[in-house]
Amino acid sequence: MKREIILQAENTLATRHQKLNKDYENNKNLLSENEEYIKLNSALHKEMIENARREAYGEKVDRKKERALKNDLSNFLKEKNISLKEEFFCSKCKDSGYINGEMCACLKKEISNILLKESNFGKLVSFESAKKTAPKEYQKLYEKMQQWCHGDYQKNLIFISGKAGVGKTYLSTAIANELIEEGKIVKLVTAFQISRDFKEYRFSYNEALLDKYLSCEFLFIDDLGTETLYKDITIDLLFHVINERRMKKLCTIITSNLTLDEIYDRYDERIFSRIVDKNTSIPINLNGKDLRINK
Ligand SMILES: [Zn+2]
Repeated sequence: MKREIILQAENTLATRHQKLNKDYENNKNLLSENEEYIKLNSALHKEMIENARREAYGEKVDRKKERALKNDLSNFLKEKNISLKEEFFCSKCKDSGYINGEMCACLKKEISNILLKESNFGKLVSFESAKKTAPKEYQKLYEKMQQWCHGDYQKNLIFISGKAGVGKTYLSTAIANELIEEGKIVKLVTAFQISRDFKEYRFSYNEALLDKYLSCEFLFIDDLGTETLYKDITIDLLFHVINERRMKKLCTIITSNLTLDEIYDRYDERIFSRIVDKNTSIPINLNGKDLRINK
């Protein structure tokens, strides 16, 4: 994951938090110059520290004064009609983006949104609205794929094939949307773009060009088969990406107009065998009517 993208996402969380807490920030500034408030607040602070010290030394603690000061403070705020409540978009990480050093789902969601903008994919659809408009024979499949989004990802390669217009990209963007809502880091790319990056990589050996495809939790490759095949580049690197991701147990979702036979012919046996591996992949053939899954 590129450092700038993470920074950008962190920035979004921080700005959002500030906007939400405009009043809170204003009020803090206001109070920091109010003498009465400062006096009350520092008296309370002193008393609390003193009580903590007494407690630590096993001395008797009387909290009457502390309670009285707290009361005075809250009355003061009430009189002045000032609220000092900090609000959070995400109560889990308190808008910091991290929980115990791990990325919070809200930060991952922001990262996916940035990646989505970069990818030039249009708006994503939700399974809920997809199911509303889908023909009957697609319902079961949508249900199954929605469940997959919340599963253990033992099967980490999904190959959605079918002729143009049967809804391959529609299904894959519904999956992407579901995963983003789950707080997963999702990257969408067209086969055309990825092939172009492969070629660029072969000339520049700029690791970042490859790394973005190797490191994201979920990679969507749209329309495999429409890209230019650069000799000794596209197929080798495509296999490298698919294989590496499989070993790292990262999920790859591919859509294609090509049938499995055509995949075998256009690419090679290695890529074909990854796609049809029953233990780790889900091949889906959409043909509009007779839907076959896992076959
Ligand atoms: Zn969060």
